[in-house]
Amino acid sequence: MDALMLPLTRIPPADEALRAGIREFVESALAGVPADVRARSWMGYDPAFSRALAERGWVGLALPPEHGGGGRGVFARFVLVEELLSRGAPVLMHWIADRQSGPMIARFGSEAQKRFYLPRICRAEIGFCIGLSEPNAGSDLASVRTRAERTADGWRLNGRKIWTTNAHRANYMIALVRTSGSAADRHAGLSQVIVDLSAPGVSVRPIRDLTGDTHFNEVAFDDVRLPDDALIGDEGQGWAQANAELAFERSGPERLLSSQVLVDEWFGWLRTLADPPAAQVAALGAIFARLVTLRAMSLAVAARIDAGESPMLAAALVKDLGTLVEQDIPATLSDMLADLPDADRAPPPAVLMRTLAYVSQMAPTFSLRGGTREILRGVIARGLSLR
Ligand SMILES: Cc1cc2nc3c(=O)[nH]c(=O)nc-3n(C[C@H](O)[C@H](O)[C@H](O)COP(=O)(O)OP(=O)(O)OC[C@H]3O[C@@H](n4cnc5c(N)ncnc54)[C@H](O)[C@@H]3O)c2cc1C
Repeated sequence: MDALMLPLTRIPPADEALRAGIREFVESALAGVPADVRARSWMGYDPAFSRALAERGWVGLALPPEHGGGGRGVFARFVLVEELLSRGAPVLMHWIADRQSGPMIARFGSEAQKRFYLPRICRAEIGFCIGLSEPNAGSDLASVRTRAERTADGWRLNGRKIWTTNAHRANYMIALVRTSGSAADRHAGLSQVIVDLSAPGVSVRPIRDLTGDTHFNEVAFDDVRLPDDALIGDEGQGWAQANAELAFERSGPERLLSSQVLVDEWFGWLRTLADPPAAQVAALGAIFARLVTLRAMSLAVAARIDAGESPMLAAALVKDLGTLVEQDIPATLSDMLADLPDADRAPPPAVLMRTLAYVSQMAPTFSLRGGTREILRGVIARGLSLR
């Protein structure tokens, strides 16, 4: 069926040419940073790194040149993301703005919003977060209750968001809110607003994750006053706009690379052994075969986005299969290391074990963020006309 046709695609030479420079910069910036720290990558927050990247034109690479962006396409960004994430660069400071909020403003924002936000995003001066989930609206976003009410000079915002990555350090949130009707109205009456997180009435409570890190938050809005031009896009179009944003979030090589630092560390260790355990070599080979195939699928999805299509079904497939392999990597390695055949063999390096511990603890989140596996499989079933 057409929606599943994913023809083999190559990265155009002009975009592939970006790779060497980015790799050289990232390798030198990360020299000496251990793998268990690099494994944090898109949870890693380092404003100096983000600004250095921005100075080289690698933040906002795909945003319009008239607003400070690089004006490049999907494939250039594909190369950039591969180089940053596979080496474990700390990208969180600029990541959400670069990947979602910037493209959202470029597509739906007013001229004034574009002029104000986009150049600052491209210089890595401001960070964004995404306020979709609420305590009773995660997978079921249509039941969002946070409400923005019209006032004489703008909006009054009340409600609560949860699991908001980077809210404790970001400057702005793009929030999905109800501007008319009630949660019973589902998709109707939802809009998107830009919230300045330093405004009176905004409180941010960090939530600690299993690894002890703090990267997501609960955010409360208590009579927060928003200016008239806080609305992004059209009132009542928030559902369609948020779905367009999720398409940016669900496609792309980031769905394959969360465990890549661990894979490379594992590979590096096996190569130092005179007699690597056969079962581990076979398991690593099987994982590489899946990664290579999925990378080809992800590239093909990128090509369809580049052609102006919105390949929701194919993107959902890549995300589901991609997060499966990302989660299988630490699980497989844990089984393998627990079952080393030769008791006399030197133990694996401590840094490999620390990286494995971190990735194992984070792995359950890989299939949650950006939409859970069950929801994606619902999207796939609908795409196949089974629902
Ligand atoms: C690391 C991380 C970062 C995140 N960052 C952000 C962020 O920046 N901004 C943001 O807005 N959110 C963020 N989230 C939230 C994430 O998007 C939600 O956790 C996710 O959408 C699921 O919502 P929920 O937690 O409310 O679970 P629920 O929706 O309550 O789901 C619980 C379980 O029920 C299943 N389920 C629910 N409905 C159905 C259905 N109709 N059919 C079948 N199964 C169903 C789900 O698949 C899941 O397994 C983040 C989450 C994580 C883990």
